[in-house]
Amino acid sequence: MNKSPFKSETIAAQAAGAVDAAGAGVVPGIQPATTFLRGPDNALLRGDKIYGRDDNDTVRQAEEILNQLEGAAATLLFPSGMAAAAAVFRTVSNGGRVVLQSGIYWGVTKWAQDFCARRDIMLDQVDASDLDALSTACAQPADLVWIEVPSNPWLKITDIAAASDLAHRAGAILAVDGTAAPPTMTQALQFGADIVMHSATKAINGHTDVLAGVLSCADAGSAAWQAIALDRHDAGAIIGPFEAWLLMRGIRTLPLRLERMSANAQAIAEYLATHDRVEAVWYPGLRDHPGYELAKRQMQGGFGYMLSVVVNGGETAALAAIGRLSLFHRATSLGGVESLVEHRHSIEPHSGIPPGLLRLSVGIEHIDDLIADLDQALRG
Ligand code: PLP
Repeated sequence: MNKSPFKSETIAAQAAGAVDAAGAGVVPGIQPATTFLRGPDNALLRGDKIYGRDDNDTVRQAEEILNQLEGAAATLLFPSGMAAAAAVFRTVSNGGRVVLQSGIYWGVTKWAQDFCARRDIMLDQVDASDLDALSTACAQPADLVWIEVPSNPWLKITDIAAASDLAHRAGAILAVDGTAAPPTMTQALQFGADIVMHSATKAINGHTDVLAGVLSCADAGSAAWQAIALDRHDAGAIIGPFEAWLLMRGIRTLPLRLERMSANAQAIAEYLATHDRVEAVWYPGLRDHPGYELAKRQMQGGFGYMLSVVVNGGETAALAAIGRLSLFHRATSLGGVESLVEHRHSIEPHSGIPPGLLRLSVGIEHIDDLIADLDQALRG
């Protein structure tokens, strides 16, 4: 595992030491070349660089920062979170078995269902935050156990260390989607995950202007990681250098942004928990959340930027309330500096999401403004 001597704030702010050594710039430049030179003797001028599909310095710099933040053995970037997730599922052979947490990001669930059906892979969906249920699912051999912590939009907290034990007993690797808890908040590999995935589109970039995904592993020599690395190299799911550079710029402020976003989310959760127009608030930072104690152990610096609110009056009231919001943008996605709200039932009407649920991604605005906006919207 990659142990930097520095704390994550320092790694992030200094881009893990990346500078423009050739031009003496304090920030690194962008390497846009798609191909690299050979000398008159036909030898590569830089032995580690042949072609842009996998040999880009800017991408490697961004990967190095994330690798250090995650404390990982190796890290690879992908052009989206879904491309990263798909790369993990593709390590399972035809006829294999996957245990998938239920009630997670709908895009992963839907993709996994389609993929496993096509590949004749057995797919068992289970509430992994219930360790008895996960233990039962892991009593049969499996190849991959996929969990999401905290889960989107149910905000369930799964015990990563316990899930790792159960997955390994089933002969499976444990992959954790940590999108809602970036590496400066939870290092899933340190709790026993084999692979951690993030949609870097969200808080890791943080400015709602880059699509990216990232995978980090505990063992770069493992069969699963070797397959993932080969697949990225050969099949070419490569992030562009401009996106990698923007990502590096975003990551510099990740710890600061997360601190503010989590503090805002906590204040909003506490405010809405006693609001007379609200039926329930799901946020692991609330003491009565079933995953509160576990989240306290697994997360540092707060409980994240995502929360779900079930408003009184069901779908009609929820849609009316978001129609009245003026600061929260009505849009899908998470993790930007600006606050977003989404009525998830409209997106996934058959997955059991309560019709009155609003998922919030809390940004870095002033907390008084955010609370005033929510209050006027709920009161109507
Ligand atoms: N995982 C989670 C938890 C997500 O919320 C998302 C996107 O919303 C993804 C994965 C997919 O990431 P991307 O949109 O970067 O493909």
